[in-house]
Amino acid sequence: MTQATREDAPREIPVGSSSVFVMVGAPGAGKGTQAQRLAVSLDLLPVSTGDLFRTALREGAPLGAEIRRYVEKGALVPDPVTLRVVRERLRQPDAAHGVVLDGFPRTRAQAEALDSMLAQGRTRVAAALYIEVETPELVRRLAGRRVCSGPGQHIFHLDSRPPRRPGVCDVDGTPLVQRSDDEPETIRARLARQLPPMYEVVDHYQGTGVLHAVRGDRPMDEIAEELLRIAQRALKPS
Ligand SMILES: [Zn+2]
Repeated sequence: MTQATREDAPREIPVGSSSVFVMVGAPGAGKGTQAQRLAVSLDLLPVSTGDLFRTALREGAPLGAEIRRYVEKGALVPDPVTLRVVRERLRQPDAAHGVVLDGFPRTRAQAEALDSMLAQGRTRVAAALYIEVETPELVRRLAGRRVCSGPGQHIFHLDSRPPRRPGVCDVDGTPLVQRSDDEPETIRARLARQLPPMYEVVDHYQGTGVLHAVRGDRPMDEIAEELLRIAQRALKPS
């Protein structure tokens, strides 16, 4: 089962992305936004595993059906499936120039698998960009989400998308509520599970010499500029 990648790739096309950037950061660190911005600035393809899974789910069988089994149980998609999805995406022509990975690798094992995947195509991670945000600040950011109690379930955020009238949905005027998932205690528990694997990924890239940490407690634009400078330096032939 784990060897399925070889059989369903009739021609063994290596992953040919010439510039591979990896965004690393906790939920709430803003890495999705920064991945998009960096990709636009450098004309790279943003590759979010979350988006890839959603696309596969929409398109259905066979991969979507397999992913659905895990997603429906609330389980993480296992590494062999994730790796297959990433590998297939990186093989597409639009990924050839380079990619910014977001949501992958999530663990040390995935980071190692990515390294060997890239080595087969004679390339490597150009830079791992780690957006560092302290846990209390992550909790504060994640706890700011409010959802309207109407059928539209419109989403707001106390910092980044505040409603025009406090506590009331702009669209349908129903009261905004905090989901139990977004309560600080729940968020802290979730982060306690999610952060250790992320620190392993950080360690991994520290070890391979491509880690660049930036402080994430600053305005988005400032972070974006710093990430762009780092990425441009990493792209220069040495
Ligand atoms: Zn609403």
